[in-house]
Amino acid sequence: MARARWAYLDRVLNRTGPFTDPDWVPGEAPLESLLRAKILVIGAGGLGCEILKNLALSGFTDIHVIDMDTIDVSNLNRQFLFRQADVGKPKAEVAARFVEKRVRGVRITPHCCKIQDMDEDYYMKFSMVICGLDSIEARRWINATLVGMVDADDPDSLKPLVDGGTEGFKGQARVVLPTMTSCIECQLDMHAPRAAVPLCTLATIPRQPQHCIEWAQIIAWEEERKDDVLDTDDPEHVSWLYSKALERANEFNIPGVTYSMTQGVVKNIIPAIASTNAIIAASCCNEAFKICTSSNPFLGTPESTNYMMFSGDDSIYTYTFEHLKKDDCPVCGNLARPLEVNPEITLREFIESLAERPEAQLKKPTLRSEAKSLYYQSPPQLEEQTRPNLDKKLSELVSNGEEVAVSDPAFQIDFKFKLVFKS
Ligand SMILES: [Zn+2]
Repeated sequence: MARARWAYLDRVLNRTGPFTDPDWVPGEAPLESLLRAKILVIGAGGLGCEILKNLALSGFTDIHVIDMDTIDVSNLNRQFLFRQADVGKPKAEVAARFVEKRVRGVRITPHCCKIQDMDEDYYMKFSMVICGLDSIEARRWINATLVGMVDADDPDSLKPLVDGGTEGFKGQARVVLPTMTSCIECQLDMHAPRAAVPLCTLATIPRQPQHCIEWAQIIAWEEERKDDVLDTDDPEHVSWLYSKALERANEFNIPGVTYSMTQGVVKNIIPAIASTNAIIAASCCNEAFKICTSSNPFLGTPESTNYMMFSGDDSIYTYTFEHLKKDDCPVCGNLARPLEVNPEITLREFIESLAERPEAQLKKPTLRSEAKSLYYQSPPQLEEQTRPNLDKKLSELVSNGEEVAVSDPAFQIDFKFKLVFKS
């Protein structure tokens, strides 16, 4: 490889800086580890395109990428490795070929599949994993897999996980050293489902333009057009909601209702923003580079900061802190997590609440107490056998303080909860 192109890298690799460890030796060794590293990138979308480009330009040469999606025309404004002619083709494949063509010497192996299709032997081949995903489920799955792979006697089994995520103008970059530092599951409450606005606010005192739009969608539609099924793809329906929302906003002197905001609220769209993706992907690749070359301290060293959050909502703000490992984390901890419950609710209501609780977010859980099967989603015979329990009160099924194991087919985790009755 002609080194001229990498002059900017050599400045970091060939000399020490104010933060380098006194034992670190610049020169050949860090360059060697960079060339030898095998990196897995999960996701080839908004973040993934940026990550692949950054890794290739940071001197990594052996990269795999997994993405199950194909290219949609709406991706083209920010997923800059794709062109009009690529619409319909697999993202991983097109992204890999584009970067290989532009950066001589890099090899990118694409996989158009789900991460769940690969086994531990596959994940074991990599030096580290970088996630640029928009799905919390997929992150929880890879996190649980990497934590489960750690063998205390084999240091190579510990694969650092660098995770980036964005939502509109907000984003975060974090590093997990599986079993050593706080994992994605420990941090699950950082991704609490968005709080719904109480109906009374919508009905009585709207404060934000969004409240007026939700009022039009939930209340005005129901009162005036309840025989029509609302279709958020129908422009006539959206226009109607927009004009209703605007009327209401004028009544309460709330500025800011627009047609495109109406569309966003009713379809529940959070815009993907190219600049946020670029900032978060840069931070992830910076961490990957530092982990690989030891040239500078990285996020996630035990007992240091491991979580960087970014907000570009108004001005630019970043904050880096240490998210602590939780002893009752269902993935990396060993204690059952206490969960306060009302003993008078039914098992069905309890199961529904598990989907919304920020620390659980389980949609199809199977539950067992120490003594018996409470509810099984499958197989059908067990489901039928345990179904009558759904209408029983929790107090009839478990005792106060009893441990309940909850599993969900979406994850390879058994969550242990200790049900504490609210008095
Ligand atoms: Zn954990």
